[in-house]
Amino acid sequence: MCVLCRFEQRRGFLRRAAGIAGGIALAGPVFHHAFAASNPRSDGLSPEQALARLQEGNRKYVAAPELCETNLAGNRAAVAKGQAPWATVLTCSDSRVSPELIFGGVGLGELFVARNAGNVADTAMVGSIEYAIEHLHCPLVVVMGHQSCGAVTAACEVVRTGERLPGSIGPMVAPIIPAAKAVRGRAGDFVENAARQNARNQATVLRKSRIVDRLEKAGKVKLIVAYYHLDSGAVEQLA
Ligand SMILES: [Zn+2]
Repeated sequence: MCVLCRFEQRRGFLRRAAGIAGGIALAGPVFHHAFAASNPRSDGLSPEQALARLQEGNRKYVAAPELCETNLAGNRAAVAKGQAPWATVLTCSDSRVSPELIFGGVGLGELFVARNAGNVADTAMVGSIEYAIEHLHCPLVVVMGHQSCGAVTAACEVVRTGERLPGSIGPMVAPIIPAAKAVRGRAGDFVENAARQNARNQATVLRKSRIVDRLEKAGKVKLIVAYYHLDSGAVEQLA
């Protein structure tokens, strides 16, 4: 729990104690500082401002990672009637890569997240992102790969050994194969190089969307490619 949360909890306790002592009805939920002080929605946020907010959130997470106890009940009520997320993130389903946590502990209604193994820009992901930027006017799209990605590792194994993967895993990693082939033999770690290349490739696929292309060229949307370091918590911007 962060210092401000502890302060709010203490203040809430004192309010409740005063209410009980005086026979007064309990006060409503105490909003966490992030939601009481500012509107977390994207209204009016430029792509550059959204990117700065995302970078600041990741810096906070790297410097002092903690699961902040935001007032989710209050946050839920605030966004129940509509959403206006300020960043869209296409990333991997990996359980260690949770965008809401690694970008500083953001609440409900802030990030529009599209995930699958290997952050592949397939039809469902592209359609989801088109919806976020066209209908929800989200100003920033992040395509984010990560360190030690299982899906990318599987694709690298297919390239290296010709291994056939069971079930639907083979077709699932097929869009990652071109990245693995492109970096094979390059200096450095094969899987890490492939994960970076794959994030770039998936951003290229995303840019083939007419909606993404139009909004990016109009300056209404910024698309960046990023790479998440599992060990340090840092999100590195690749492009
Ligand atoms: Zn992964």
